[in-house]
Amino acid sequence: MPGRLLALVRPAPSSSPKSDSSSKTDTTHSLLPPVYSVEPPSSTRSKSQESLVMDAFKRHSLGRGDKKTPKVEAHKAASLNMEVESPPVVFYNNPQTSTGALISGQLKLDVRDSQLKLDKFEMQMLAVVVTKKPVAQHCADCSTKTSEIHKWEFLKAPLSLSHGMRSFPFSHILPGHLPATTHGALATIDYYLSAVATTSTGEKISYKRNIDIKRAIFPANEKHSVRIFPPTNLTAAVCLPPVVHPIGDFPIKMSLSGIVHNKGDAQTRWRLRKLNWRIEEIQKHVSTACNKHQQKVGGEGKGILYEDTRVVGAEEVKIPWKTDFEQGNIDAEFHAACNIATRPLCDVDTAIGMSLKHNLVIEMVVAEEWAPLKKLSQATPTGAARVLRTQFHLVVTERAGMGIAWDEEQPPVYEDVPSSPPAYINDYDIAQLDEVGSAMNL
Ligand SMILES: [Zn+2]
Repeated sequence: MPGRLLALVRPAPSSSPKSDSSSKTDTTHSLLPPVYSVEPPSSTRSKSQESLVMDAFKRHSLGRGDKKTPKVEAHKAASLNMEVESPPVVFYNNPQTSTGALISGQLKLDVRDSQLKLDKFEMQMLAVVVTKKPVAQHCADCSTKTSEIHKWEFLKAPLSLSHGMRSFPFSHILPGHLPATTHGALATIDYYLSAVATTSTGEKISYKRNIDIKRAIFPANEKHSVRIFPPTNLTAAVCLPPVVHPIGDFPIKMSLSGIVHNKGDAQTRWRLRKLNWRIEEIQKHVSTACNKHQQKVGGEGKGILYEDTRVVGAEEVKIPWKTDFEQGNIDAEFHAACNIATRPLCDVDTAIGMSLKHNLVIEMVVAEEWAPLKKLSQATPTGAARVLRTQFHLVVTERAGMGIAWDEEQPPVYEDVPSSPPAYINDYDIAQLDEVGSAMNL
């Protein structure tokens, strides 16, 4: 089941042995209702949190059994581990309408000493946004912004524990407006659960786990778009799926009309000579400055907008299309897909200045022919040719069904049966048209 793997992208850095049989929930500690932090995280806390993240990565990358590290681990009074019980976090639909997703599990505290007194035990869900092009290079505060999504405080008062395993259950409905985990060229968004237990002697027992958040936008109706190409009479009607996925192909139906023009006793007409498509991924990100470097961007709340466009799939259509000079139409049906090797990303739209969108660009080369009406089969190329280029917004999202929304028990609110094509056109535009010389090699 691929969905499960996604939630366990980074294994727990802590390697305490699991002894589930002996685990029992401690009844002496009191659980507090979730506390929402109203304070933005201070910059010093951001730093320490980030270094914890890095520690977790380092430990993970070093791997187990690294014989070259002679450092003997200091005796820890206890160790922490976690069992996430909720399915992989998937937000359904767009940030404005998503109901969010549940995260729940058990924090496992394995007390090694005969007695342990905890002064504090809390966990945070953190969002870490890393800007690849910080306003001030090498400034950690410019490049990394950490914010707290939720905080759990497990203790009301100091708690004494004896040797053994304790479970601390946690749960929270993550709000559906949060941007999904994204690793873009300009910025990355990651989420972590970070737990810290502080003993009465000041020792900190910490645990950090990466939580992968995905978004799946449910498909609605097919998208019908029309593009006109003045000064010609050519019109392209294109039918696209409402959403597409990073993996897997999708169908495109295109009809080019207005290809025939009769005048006097002759006919001029356009023949489609070449048909290409490509998928462009457009990333935008506003790099904002830390308090110290705000003057570099002209004050608070300002930033530098970066844009990055790359092609994540392209092909020339090789399957034949249908040309009907009597009806004046060319009909083409073909499939397009993102190239997995380019690691295509899903659409993201955030309030923090980062966005990721996709366009499908269709390019057609048409060549003009002339024929007498009496002998339509004897057409001659006039030498004129044009490139018709047009683009359509493409919604790239995860496939639904990888996780369970917290309101999964409700009947789905989306149309899972494709309806008949709508009578309206939801996308109408004048497209780009390039005239090319007769010298063009067709
Ligand atoms: Zn800075």
